[in-house]
Amino acid sequence: PLALLNDPTLLKTDALIDGQWIAGTGRFDVNDPATGLKLADVANLTRADAATAIAAAARALIGWRARTGKERSIVLRKWFDLLMAHTEDLGRLMTAEQGKPFAEAKGEVAYGASFIEWFAEEAKRVNGETLPQFDNNRRLLVMKQPIGVCAAITPWNFPLAMITRKVAPALAAGCTVVIKPAELTPLTALAVAELALRAGIPAGVLNVLSADADNSIEIGKELCESDVVRHLSFTGSTEVGRILMRQCAPTIKKLSLELGGNAPFLVFDDADIDSAVEGAIASKYRNAGQTCVCANRLYVQEGVYDVFIEKLAAKVKSLKVGNGFEAGVLQGPLIEDAAVAKVQRHVDDALAKGGRLMAGGHKLQGQFFEPTLIADATPDMLCAREETFGPFAPVFRFKSEQEAIDAANATEFGLASYFYSRDVGRIFRVAEALEYGMVGINAGVIATEHVPFGGVKQSGLGREGSHHSMEDYVEIKYLCLGDI
Ligand code: ADP
Repeated sequence: PLALLNDPTLLKTDALIDGQWIAGTGRFDVNDPATGLKLADVANLTRADAATAIAAAARALIGWRARTGKERSIVLRKWFDLLMAHTEDLGRLMTAEQGKPFAEAKGEVAYGASFIEWFAEEAKRVNGETLPQFDNNRRLLVMKQPIGVCAAITPWNFPLAMITRKVAPALAAGCTVVIKPAELTPLTALAVAELALRAGIPAGVLNVLSADADNSIEIGKELCESDVVRHLSFTGSTEVGRILMRQCAPTIKKLSLELGGNAPFLVFDDADIDSAVEGAIASKYRNAGQTCVCANRLYVQEGVYDVFIEKLAAKVKSLKVGNGFEAGVLQGPLIEDAAVAKVQRHVDDALAKGGRLMAGGHKLQGQFFEPTLIADATPDMLCAREETFGPFAPVFRFKSEQEAIDAANATEFGLASYFYSRDVGRIFRVAEALEYGMVGINAGVIATEHVPFGGVKQSGLGREGSHHSMEDYVEIKYLCLGDI
């Protein structure tokens, strides 16, 4: 698939440190999850390379933070324009290494680029404050300054957007960044970095450390333990989030963590059922169910339970599965064999505990799994507690609103939640009662660049996107000026 790139020079397989492409002492394979075939071998950087990158980012910080917000904005805007101009190629790289359908991949390019566009604007609006004095001989000011060198560790499910969502506010604020992209999807990250260089982002301001799974752990240690790195942003599993938080404790690093979810999707008797079915399809089966905001548990009130399941099953059966480059495909392969095995485990467990199979249920060839729907789910099933991260939706039946809220909240996670209702009183009651950072009401897809994306409880710390996220990349400094 990579032979078809319009601009073959976007296929970068070396890492980027201080504006230089680094071949590394070792290499690792990147494979196509749809075919299992090798796509490229990529520089496998080490902990020592991470130290070099941090030093480069520290040197670059001096010049980058000295630019005005508007000057940084102009460069970021160019980067945005280049990403959009290369949507086809970036989408192609992404579908090849990640598997998502090509149309979805191009959608991610636009979504990912939108963070750069938006934070390019925000770069001009990092405002301070003047406060009323407590003594007329004094004046009190608050200024915001870039926090410094930042690190970003990103996952494979959104190979582009998870990078830009972190890097755009950091660069806008005047910080420099060292990125460690997921080992399964480094090609998209490296192409994005190449476009950053073309946009005029100076050497050392953005560094990308490609590495395999083992070296990623070592690089992670360097990023966490360094006292030059002042902020770490991570998107990935809660388990790894805990490790990173622990590793960051000695240097009291500021953390943004976007971790696992276990999203409930509630459908009340008064819902618009067709809209709820559409929302469930979009929320559950997008990216083959591999997003942290995918509906993981569907709760449907008894009055509409049968009709909802019947309509949803018909839609699920119609989803075309295949190579993301094939026309009309709505679900690609899962990212790796372990992901397929986890879906199978959840499906088998649900069926063994009395679940009723309504659609799918089986592994296909390679890393493909049928879009699956199981009715009559119960709280003792694995899918009730764990994030499946695959194309399987279990449906639970409920009677009362309180019962649905209690079930929805019965998890250590608190990222996204969804519910469908047309009753305005219920909409406020349920929205306020759900212990989640995000609530989609009559909407199955809710992320965009200018809203605060993030979770409560063990789903993470901080918010990404929106003006709130800029706060993560600045330090507040209070100035008390006396003898006026
Ligand atoms: P996922 O479930 O999305 O694969 P992970 O949390 O395993 O999420 O991985 C997300 C990112 O974290 C990847 O870039 C991966 O290389 C990195 N990673 C995984 N384990 C560690 C670790 N112990 N230290 C630092 N980074 C890690």
